[in-house]
Amino acid sequence: MHRAILLACFFLATTPVSAQTAFLNANILDPGTGEVTRGATLLVEDGLITGYGAEIAVPEAAVRVDLEGRWLVPGYIDAHAHIATVAGMRRALSSGVTTARSANTSAYQDVTLRQMVRERVLPGPEVMAAGSFVTPDPGDRILGDPRLAQLYRGINTEAELRQIVRVNIDRGVDWIKTRATERAGLPNTDPRKQVYTETQLRVVVDEAAKGGKSVLVHAHGDEGARAAVLAGARSVEHGTYLTDETLALMKERGTYLVPTYTIVQDLLQPGGDYDDPVLIIRAQHMLPNLERAIGAALAMGIPVVASTDTGYGPGSIARVGTEIANFARLGMTPLEALQSATTTAAELLGLEGRIARIAIGYEADLVVLGGNPLEDIRHVQDVLAVMSNGILAVNRLPFGR
Ligand SMILES: [Zn+2]
Repeated sequence: MHRAILLACFFLATTPVSAQTAFLNANILDPGTGEVTRGATLLVEDGLITGYGAEIAVPEAAVRVDLEGRWLVPGYIDAHAHIATVAGMRRALSSGVTTARSANTSAYQDVTLRQMVRERVLPGPEVMAAGSFVTPDPGDRILGDPRLAQLYRGINTEAELRQIVRVNIDRGVDWIKTRATERAGLPNTDPRKQVYTETQLRVVVDEAAKGGKSVLVHAHGDEGARAAVLAGARSVEHGTYLTDETLALMKERGTYLVPTYTIVQDLLQPGGDYDDPVLIIRAQHMLPNLERAIGAALAMGIPVVASTDTGYGPGSIARVGTEIANFARLGMTPLEALQSATTTAAELLGLEGRIARIAIGYEADLVVLGGNPLEDIRHVQDVLAVMSNGILAVNRLPFGR
């Protein structure tokens, strides 16, 4: 009883971490190999997976969690999120996200949230920060650092582009986020309109590379996306109007596609992060174009990665589980769809070998599902428990019967 209460708690300020946890009677799916291990015990020690199988001895001190035949998969990676609050972190974690790549926050909140997880003030998700957005019209986004004050006038010249990248790197970001086209989520902008030239994007990529950072580039329109790929973007975000020519270039260069499909669905629906009649009309033509681009990307073997493009606000409905299920509908096998939020995403983030697999020595970032996602992918949308960095942070197991 005492243990049940303990495990049901969210975000205890001083989380009483047991160094050892044993999941009993687990069906394990490792997306790295696609292999299933049934009826297994999985042992977590000091935040790492230290063993699993039928014959694992459970140490006396370990906290035992009986999964009664439920399924264990790695925690999800959200490769494009805008988490800027602790409440947003909590919602992301509750939906199974144990790693999130920030696609910019207004004032370096992502850098501090990352530190809070590192210092175990929060159990997760692990954050890869992008800091301040490299965009021609930053507005309030320059308020996070006094060195950016002059950039309120605009970020267009080589000196301006290099300056914001340098300040971001000095603030400790992991990635640089820039844009090649206008936004989709504002009624008075056209997402097809290119805003930075290939030359400008090359400056961003070059300055980022000096600090060892890669660049993710927002691009809906094909012209801008092509400029981004030629400039050396590591991933194209959105990619709504990508042509086969640009996709072929992405294949050649090894560029990833992060299509943020579920947030475009959100544009189309009332509620959620967007609720505007202009955007509903726009999304009616965006969505079929994006579906075409995703289908063509999959046919060419371009790595496609799951994300939400949300800040996980109180009204947000975009979730990684929904994106995974959407990808399965749009042509991925169930295993490929799960990989889009685990192993494929980890490769994009350069974290393969450390997260996103159920294998010995990997981080204990785990999600419990009610059934086998290879048989019905919708199981990924019902997250029953979440372990992040070895901490059982969310536990709905008593309700998932
Ligand atoms: Zn975004």
